[in-house]
Amino acid sequence: MTTTDYSVPTGESPHVCAYCGDPFREEEYLVLHHGLEHGDELSEDEVAAFYDAYEVETEELKHFRLKALGILVLLYFGFLFIYAIIGIS
Ligand SMILES: [Zn+2]
Repeated sequence: MTTTDYSVPTGESPHVCAYCGDPFREEEYLVLHHGLEHGDELSEDEVAAFYDAYEVETEELKHFRLKALGILVLLYFGFLFIYAIIGIS
């Protein structure tokens, strides 16, 4: 693990990792960090929380990929129709 300097904006109360002290804006990020970086040291509850958060994250990623693909398809056909209309006249 590399050492990184963090700057936490004033007024923010970050979720701090109990194992290494890294700050996270969202509790979900902290849970994912626990699973990825401190997998061997976690309690059963923390492991279960990690798998839940990981599942949610994977679902969100799938939705994002579908949306990105949908937008690409729309752009492709949009430009195709524009080309067809302009090309005819
Ligand atoms: Zn940590």
